[in-house]
Amino acid sequence: MINFPSSQQNYGYARILIDRTEGTVLDYAIPEFLKNRVQIGARVRIPLREAEVMGIVLSLHDVVAFTKVKAIIEVMDYRASRLTAHQVSSSCKDLPERPLLSEKIMQLAHWMADYYGASLDAVFKSLVPQSIRNRSLNEKKITTVSLVKKPSLLFLKELSRRSPRQKRILDTLLESEGTLRSRQLLKQADANMPSLHALEKAGWVLLKQESVSRDPFANEELLPSSIPKLNADQQRAVEKIDQELTRMFSGNSDETTLLGQPVSLPFLLHGVTGSGKTEVYLRIMEKALALGKSVLILVPEIALTPQTLERFRSRLEQTQEKRLIAVLHSHLSEGERHDEWLRLHRGEARIVIGARSAIFAPLDKLGLIIVDEEHETSYKQEETPRYHARDVAVMRARYESAVLVLGSATPAIESMHNVHQGKYRLLELSERADHQRMPLIRVIDMRLQGKQKGADAILSLLLRKAIAQRLERSEQIILFLNRRGFASALLCPHCGTASSCPHCSLSLTFHRSSECLMCHLCGHREKPPSVCPSCREVGFLYSGVGTQRVEAAVAQAFPEARSFRIDADTMQRKGSYKETFDRFRKQQIDILIGTQMIAKGLDFPNVTLVGIINGDTSLHAPDFRAGERTFQLLTQVAGRAGRGDREGEVMIQTYTPESPSIQFARHHDYHGFFEQEVVFRKNFGYPPFEKMILIQLRGRLQEQVAFEAAALRHQLRLTLPDAIKVGEAVAAPLERAHGYYRFHVALHGFFPKSIKATLRKTLSQFLFPSGIIVTMDVDPQSFM
Ligand code: ADP
Ligand code: ZN
Repeated sequence: MINFPSSQQNYGYARILIDRTEGTVLDYAIPEFLKNRVQIGARVRIPLREAEVMGIVLSLHDVVAFTKVKAIIEVMDYRASRLTAHQVSSSCKDLPERPLLSEKIMQLAHWMADYYGASLDAVFKSLVPQSIRNRSLNEKKITTVSLVKKPSLLFLKELSRRSPRQKRILDTLLESEGTLRSRQLLKQADANMPSLHALEKAGWVLLKQESVSRDPFANEELLPSSIPKLNADQQRAVEKIDQELTRMFSGNSDETTLLGQPVSLPFLLHGVTGSGKTEVYLRIMEKALALGKSVLILVPEIALTPQTLERFRSRLEQTQEKRLIAVLHSHLSEGERHDEWLRLHRGEARIVIGARSAIFAPLDKLGLIIVDEEHETSYKQEETPRYHARDVAVMRARYESAVLVLGSATPAIESMHNVHQGKYRLLELSERADHQRMPLIRVIDMRLQGKQKGADAILSLLLRKAIAQRLERSEQIILFLNRRGFASALLCPHCGTASSCPHCSLSLTFHRSSECLMCHLCGHREKPPSVCPSCREVGFLYSGVGTQRVEAAVAQAFPEARSFRIDADTMQRKGSYKETFDRFRKQQIDILIGTQMIAKGLDFPNVTLVGIINGDTSLHAPDFRAGERTFQLLTQVAGRAGRGDREGEVMIQTYTPESPSIQFARHHDYHGFFEQEVVFRKNFGYPPFEKMILIQLRGRLQEQVAFEAAALRHQLRLTLPDAIKVGEAVAAPLERAHGYYRFHVALHGFFPKSIKATLRKTLSQFLFPSGIIVTMDVDPQSFM
């Protein structure tokens, strides 16, 4: 572990991670004139062989192994806090410096590298947006042009003969009443820079250089929302968290350190769908801001719909200045992301709302972190470093001494388990905020209903009737298609039985290439049965349906209805979410058809029916969390119904109506589900009771990958302690992706602290042929 000196003044050397080198670390001398400017987390320019490159200061030292080291050339970034953009550009040279990354973020980076078994270099890549990494922290400058005096008509007439270009520039400025950006002006006037400079010289126009930051909300108007009176549950939750904020921050709002600082246990806010969690977030945010702290809010990427953002912004903008809020998500342009990041780094913005990687936002004086929908799988990054933003949030809150609130209607089993272990504190909102009743959930048994006359595997008779009724009353309908499942699970359409592993209680996956059923965790194989082992019917196969098929079925059954399909294909364009949701809100769409994208966070009062086409597909995913995912999904989707004053109804079509995931969701019984789920997890040694690491090998040649995976598995068995279970090397359920064959070796058990170091050593010493890529996934969320 690294030493973080409290005073960074007098060190002679710095250890630097060189950019774009896959993690090369070298020592450099700190020249006298940079003595107190080279700090941990600062970016520096350094000589490397013949070139100059950039790097990040990892640590400072008095002595180094080789004293003949080169010297740092320059420190890159300036501190600039709480000043307007204009002031910054003119006076930043006089300000003390703030490194690109704070010491606390650096600590977090070291923890991540260590915990997830990733290189520091890979960690830094996800810590800082690419646009920031590639440039220094200067702002974008633009030139504005304004009219100094109004030209007479006579003059203009004369000018049009002498220089039509200059005339067009003046005309354009006159029309726009004053000031324009030079680029835009020249484009509109079809003119060029020399004409502009000529006008400047003659004293007609003034050119000014200005720093700007691109504002992703520049053209939006928000309606103020009314501030509701908290109900008793909300009141209690807000009080508890406010008390904690006060305990942590009142009195010493100065820089805080981990040592000697009170540690705050995370809160888990469990509130049923519609219970008003957002209102709780808003209140505690205001409290944290009032205490001089900044606030970080994580929402799942999928929930970063304009609707969610608007709810936060419209409220905050009533009490806070608009520019205090920054957003960070994948729909921003690279330029917008760059500017938002900088506003946070400078302290101009003190609230950030963002998706996964916003957990690294460079906020100063961080006091409160909120992770909404903490159970969401999109918080897990599925490429190196494979971190889970919720877990990183726990660590960041610890390093920063911040208060952490995890919110969900369906907390992850791991999180609720932490409550039972005394590691988190539970706050509950058990009723809908607006006194609406929870929607009535009906389970439709497709083994019977799917076969009735007039029905098919997509729309049962009951669901058809319900849709027709809503259409008649001009109410709206959401049809949800569960895509999380996996078409290659075998399922009997007559009795609902799915084939599962005798050792792992996981669904078996059908592999077409080898024509066999396989357990991806332990390697168990069997021939697919020709008749269902349970009811002896033939036709033992199940394949999923797509949104397009649902759309076609709806169009056929209800030709008059205005239906719209929303999925990754139709939502390619930036802004198309907002458009679609706006149209749905204005009731220009009757039936919205979609996948996971419509499950979260939306609030449409006129929706009185939610139909779930295939409630159980996700149950058959070859994943020990399949039951949990199904329960969460059904609960979330059901939560979209009955948000207004009319009561909502939910219909779940399923081949396995008796499954606990479906039954507990139907009764809105999270705790019941939790109790039975932990028994299963405990019996099979799954998380949270034991830990898991998944090792994946990829390569173009199937036999080679299979062979290397088996050899690695053998080696791991020899090097790892006996108590760790090492699964067979098996083809991944998604056997081939992007042209690569994929094999898995799963480890589970109680891991000693040293396990990742041991693993990394084993992997690096193992001589893989070129073309084989090996990755390690700690706390894996996906087993595909
Ligand atoms: P959740 O995020 O827990 O699903 P929301 O925050 O979306 O719930 O709240 C559901 C609805 O209840 C929203 O329309 C919200 O404006 C409203 N609401 C929240 N708190 C109150 C309250 N105290 N009184 C009345 N309505 C409320
Ligand atoms: Zn198995």
